[in-house]
Amino acid sequence: MSVSENLEHIQREIALACEKAGRKSEEIKIIAVTKYVSIERTAEALDSGIYHLGENRDEGLTEKWNIIGDKAIWHFIGTLQSRKVKNIVDKVSYIHSLDRLSLAKEIDKRAGKVIPCLVQVNVSGEESKHGMNPEDVKNFIKDLEHFPNILVDGLMTMAPNSEDENLLRSCFKKLKELRDEISSLNLPYAPCRELSMGMSNDYRIAVEEGATMVRIGSALVGNEREVQDK
Ligand SMILES: *Cc1c(COP(=O)(O)O)cnc(C)c1O
Repeated sequence: MSVSENLEHIQREIALACEKAGRKSEEIKIIAVTKYVSIERTAEALDSGIYHLGENRDEGLTEKWNIIGDKAIWHFIGTLQSRKVKNIVDKVSYIHSLDRLSLAKEIDKRAGKVIPCLVQVNVSGEESKHGMNPEDVKNFIKDLEHFPNILVDGLMTMAPNSEDENLLRSCFKKLKELRDEISSLNLPYAPCRELSMGMSNDYRIAVEEGATMVRIGSALVGNEREVQDK
């Protein structure tokens, strides 16, 4: 399937989810997660009108950024080691995986400007998942006041890999509650507007529950194996 065909389908699904939830499609940014695919397929995504791209490793990001540069808006969505910060911080518009003070300190030090960051929360409590415990998020964000280059623009989560719609829904609801709680504090450095949640298998539910950014890889650009099979 071409990226445009996939995109058309996803946009239709998002419109339906929005209708159900009384939301507007314009509230939702679709991030094409290109970590599995070639530069050609990534260029196809750009041609089909998607300009938010997500990568989860510094090497992958750098490789594509070297060719595409500022024709895209880059989102770093993967676990970020502090020593890798310097490789990505000038290239990305958003970091979705802020989950500890040592990382905040490094981003703040290396960034030449304010970087919108999303705090990654492990809502489901699964041990395999990165991110902070929900109970720790508020105090963590209060500590981020001391880092002038960090704007806390929202929260991010990865839901469990599950078919259980109720479980997914409750994860997304919890993240939204937490987001609302933080944005109501009116901290100037933490407007906390964005909710980055929803991937190929669960973006419809995430949109119904308030996602403002969905991170879609396989269902949108595919993965390398599928592309090569064509
Ligand atoms: C890979 C990845 C995605 C996209 O996954 P798909 O299921 O292929 O849509 C989204 N978010 C993060 C953090 C990822 O690592």
